[in-house]
Amino acid sequence: MPYLNSLRNRFIITLAIMLVLVMGILMFILHQLMIPNLLSEERQGAHVYANVLQESIDRDARNLNTMVYQWATWAGTWEFMNGRRPDFPQTHITPAVFDDHAADLMIITNPNDAISWIAGRNPVNGSFTSCAQPAGDCQWSLDLVREMQRQLSSTDTMPRIGVRPDFAMISTWPITRRDSSFAAGKITLMRLLPGQWQPEAGLSTLTLSSIRLKKGDRHDDKPAISIEPIDDDTLRLTLTRPSATPEYQVLMTTRLKRDGLHAGIARFNMTMLGSLLLLIALMMAMLWVFRAIVLRPITELSRYASALRQSPGEHLEAPPPWLQARSDELGNMAREFQTLIKELNERNAHLKALTNRDALTGLGNRRLLDRQLPRTLSLTHRLERPVALIMIDVDHFKLYNDFYGHPEGDQCLKTIAETLSDIFQRESDLVTRVGGEEFVIVLPDFDLERAMDIARGVCTAMEAQCIPHVPSPTHKYVTISAGVAISSPDHPLSGEALIKQADQALYQIKKSSRNAVGCTTCD
Ligand code: GH3
Ligand code: MG
Ligand code: MG
Repeated sequence: MPYLNSLRNRFIITLAIMLVLVMGILMFILHQLMIPNLLSEERQGAHVYANVLQESIDRDARNLNTMVYQWATWAGTWEFMNGRRPDFPQTHITPAVFDDHAADLMIITNPNDAISWIAGRNPVNGSFTSCAQPAGDCQWSLDLVREMQRQLSSTDTMPRIGVRPDFAMISTWPITRRDSSFAAGKITLMRLLPGQWQPEAGLSTLTLSSIRLKKGDRHDDKPAISIEPIDDDTLRLTLTRPSATPEYQVLMTTRLKRDGLHAGIARFNMTMLGSLLLLIALMMAMLWVFRAIVLRPITELSRYASALRQSPGEHLEAPPPWLQARSDELGNMAREFQTLIKELNERNAHLKALTNRDALTGLGNRRLLDRQLPRTLSLTHRLERPVALIMIDVDHFKLYNDFYGHPEGDQCLKTIAETLSDIFQRESDLVTRVGGEEFVIVLPDFDLERAMDIARGVCTAMEAQCIPHVPSPTHKYVTISAGVAISSPDHPLSGEALIKQADQALYQIKKSSRNAVGCTTCD
């Protein structure tokens, strides 16, 4: 995969994988931990809500019970039932009593369950009426009275939620006095429960959405709570309570918004999004830092290394100074490079020197002459100056070798090299040994006359060394002969041609004599 060949791409892919992993972990946390937790919290909240609702209903029922008890044990009621206070209903059973206690209907019956008084608010128009019978102004209450009587035929005195014609909360109590052992009748209070009933003693936000009946197989007096989701936004909370009719139960339902759950998920999503953005920003920053700290220097080093490989020169460049100045591992690497390059350059220089040197005498060799001569010629001619070349050959050296042996011959050659080095000391003079016993000297800025003079001087100096040469047919001591050639700006010669001319001059002079200097242009 070619895109994996780049450190940058690898780093980006690693970051992307990390990002996906983090996303996966966050999603796992959301689905496996957060949502179940939020659902459980929602359930707990709904139970608290249901308990508050139950409590409110119970409290309303208790209030109704207390109210009916107070009316039933009140001396005024007792006296009314015993015929002593006939004006009691007009003076005491007033609309305010019903408003204060949220009751809708009061029925007072005598010990034979015959109605003695009836009062309440017409649920249709809200008007208050108070009558001796459920007729005339109180005609509206007839059905309610019948229902109430039907349900209250039992001796149960607990308030119950009755059925038909409306759902209602009913409480009844015998009219008694402490000093009397018999009841003067019963007093019953009814409170109608509308479909959208809000239990009064409860929290104002609690509203039932519906009340309905359910036929139950078993009669269970214990209220039950059930919570089930209708959809993503709504929960249905159902309270099941016993009704006044044993075979029925009253189901009171209300709907709860699942705001807590959604808010929790939204909060987590926001946190997740925030973390994700932060992570992306962090990764971008890491990428930037990675590029600045690692990638760029590595790219520079790699570029430098490839430039080094392609570098034509013998001298290799050091890595960029800013890389060497770094104090980290890359800086160490650059410095190692630098040390390596320094050693390589030194070795190169040494090798170069070795390849240009004659091993026996330490003078320059033929390779150096071939490289240096054309440069010297062009440079010197550019300065409008001549170049002289002297070719030197040892006279009768074969005889010397044969007589004294090869090692002695070598020693002789070394002595000649030292003599030449002593004479030609200018930095621009080039002294080389180009063959067995042949030497070439290149002298920039030397005309023919000066060159001939100095060549003669070399002959004299060599003879003056007084190296005995017994087998020589011409001299007592080792001598040399020299051929001189000149390349001037007016008549420039190539290096090759210059050497050739000097060689010819030497050959000419050797034909006639030894220990002598000749030149091709001399007469
Ligand atoms: P001429 O005066 O005509 O130059 O005579 P010559 O004997 O010097 O000429 P020739 O070219 O016939 O002989 C050169 C001799 O130089 C041959 C060889 O024995 C000797 N020679 C060449 N290279 C070396 C070397 O490296 N060391 C030694 N000791 N002798 C060498
Ligand atoms: Mg020779
Ligand atoms: Mg010779």
